[in-house]
Amino acid sequence: MAGPTVTTPDGPFTLARGCDGCTLCCKVLEAAPIGKPANTWCTHCIRGAGCGIHETREPVCREYHCGWLIDGSLSEEWRPETAHLILTYRDEGRSMSVHADEDHPDAWLQEPYYSQIKRWAALSLGVGGRVVAYVGNQGFVILPDRHVALGVLGDDDYIFIERLPNGEWDARKMGQDEAAALQASSAGL
Ligand code: SF4
Ligand code: SF4
Repeated sequence: MAGPTVTTPDGPFTLARGCDGCTLCCKVLEAAPIGKPANTWCTHCIRGAGCGIHETREPVCREYHCGWLIDGSLSEEWRPETAHLILTYRDEGRSMSVHADEDHPDAWLQEPYYSQIKRWAALSLGVGGRVVAYVGNQGFVILPDRHVALGVLGDDDYIFIERLPNGEWDARKMGQDEAAALQASSAGL
């Protein structure tokens, strides 16, 4: 059975399913406009039920729909509270963030998750996107055959992914200055 129809900037969109008692994003994800830090239960959350202020919740919450709600082809093991993972599509679906519950920091490395996430990474890289896993403020770029740990990712950090001459992918973190210099040199080509 399909989920509720929601309003998006592109018009009405019918979700594949509803949250049905899952509340994991109300813990794992940051909701800066309402002052909720990542990996902290929101004070409005009724665990196992939903949002205690559902009718008046702010746009940051109203407009968020995880991958589990959007993609009806995901099997039951991807239910966020089962996987301990939250998928978020980005860049119009070309990229994906995988946020692990900090109480299960290795969840994304378990099977069947890790292999599937690497397959999604291969598809994303092919269309100019990326898949990045997050455990708290630690970032991990997922590549088709492995992952690259970036350490703590700050607001001023950029993720640089490149294809090496041997055809393999590599990734690293770069600061604002290095990213600006790279952009300038690319523009000058
Ligand atoms: S993680 Fe997804 S399914 Fe769970 S509460 Fe958030 S939006 Fe709903
Ligand atoms: S306000 Fe509601 S939807 Fe938003 S984080 Fe808190 S419990 Fe979740």
